[in-house]
Amino acid sequence: MTGARGDICDVAVIGAGMAGMSAALFAAERGLSCIQVGNAGSLLFASGLLDFLGVHPVPERQLWQSPLEALAALGRDEPDHPLARLDADLIRSAFESFVTALGAAGLAYAPLGERNRKLFTSIGTIKTTYGVPRSMVAGVRVLEQRSPCLLVDFRGLREFSAAQIAATLGRNWPGLRQQRIEFPGYEAVPELYAAHLARALESGELRARTIARIKPLLGDARSLGVPAVLGLARASEVHAAFEAGLGLPVFEIPTMPTSVPGLRLRTALETVVSARGVLRRRQASVRGLSFGADAATITLELDGAAAGERVHARAVVLATGRFTGRGLTAERKQVRESILGLPVHQPASRAAWHQRDFLDPSGHAINRAGLLTDAAWRPLDAQGRPAWKRLYAVGSILAHQDWMRSKCGSGLAIATAWGAIEQVARDLRATATG
Ligand SMILES: Cc1cc2nc3c(=O)[nH]c(=O)nc-3n(C[C@H](O)[C@H](O)[C@H](O)COP(=O)(O)OP(=O)(O)OC[C@H]3O[C@@H](n4cnc5c(N)ncnc54)[C@H](O)[C@@H]3O)c2cc1C
Repeated sequence: MTGARGDICDVAVIGAGMAGMSAALFAAERGLSCIQVGNAGSLLFASGLLDFLGVHPVPERQLWQSPLEALAALGRDEPDHPLARLDADLIRSAFESFVTALGAAGLAYAPLGERNRKLFTSIGTIKTTYGVPRSMVAGVRVLEQRSPCLLVDFRGLREFSAAQIAATLGRNWPGLRQQRIEFPGYEAVPELYAAHLARALESGELRARTIARIKPLLGDARSLGVPAVLGLARASEVHAAFEAGLGLPVFEIPTMPTSVPGLRLRTALETVVSARGVLRRRQASVRGLSFGADAATITLELDGAAAGERVHARAVVLATGRFTGRGLTAERKQVRESILGLPVHQPASRAAWHQRDFLDPSGHAINRAGLLTDAAWRPLDAQGRPAWKRLYAVGSILAHQDWMRSKCGSGLAIATAWGAIEQVARDLRATATG
């Protein structure tokens, strides 16, 4: 297996979730030759909303309007948290690069600012997040102003209920109405799927019929909310056509995973990393790693569709996630790192993995398990030394964070990938000149 430069690539990224994709993207943007191994299926679970840091401290469930102030508080209280180890400006640069790249692949995000934004979800709860797709951003202002708004859903689309949102939010929002309509051409279909509707709305004719069905229902509404089904590859065009056809701001509301926004995110990231020259082994996994006797290269042994293939790299980024990603494996008595058996920071015994109460606001200790690294993002061995001089770890496999409860999933992935790739670039430069 050959890399982009001769027979060794600069960096191999293991994993194609949010963290692996970010690492591959940032490596390519720095001119590093990169091979990425892994399937991007985990991105289908993403909502399209890019959380930076919404909650801290977790037990108090304190929400923050400013992720930067939240980051400062995190740094004071939890200096070991991976996000707390990164500079705020660096994290913002990482987010900017990430959404700019998505925009180049046709997935537009609203400009990032200094503040978190609030939107409502498909079950009427309020979500605090940072990066919002342009197709959803009108929902932020509507929620702030509680102005007259119509929510429309489609009979047969089970993952979304406008009635439930209106029932949850309507008490404090008298101008919020909801209406269920038939999706044109699908009147005889009992069950609808968001991805099918999104594809169907890319047809101009069907789009026009849908708009025509919604228009007479608008009444005094000053905005329209719909489930996130406004197109897949041509989402910007579909969204713009709805706004032009209805004459008011239209916003998508994220549906339950796996969702259309997750599909869009996966497609956009796959497009953009490939366009920037990353070689992808999408249907392969890494079975093992071996370190060269010369200490200059590392070899990945591939499995799956590329079984038997070997990738040689000067640096490796481990972005294999936690339990769902399969980066960590939970055994009867302990958690182990799945590829190399690296030491995992974890509770002393299985009895301490979970709190007695499943809904305990502090979360569970097992959700803070993961790899410890040095300041250069290199995972540590049992003696507390870097396991290999150019092996780095990013994303949810890192210890001392519970991204789900802190609402920092994408921020953790994007920011640590940025930090690690900067380090990779520095280390490779030092080797070349040393
Ligand atoms: C239900 C759900 C909802 C979410 N909602 C949000 C949200 O609202 N906002 C937000 O910001 N983020 C959200 N996220 C996404 C979250 O940001 C990321 O999933 C999280 O940060 C973890 O990303 P990761 O890349 O570290 O790990 P993962 O996403 O777990 O990716 C790990 C990758 O590594 C691969 N891998 C593992 N082992 C190997 C191997 N041996 N060889 C090759 N590949 C391997 C896996 O196949 C996978 O692709 C959500 C995620 C989920 C699951």
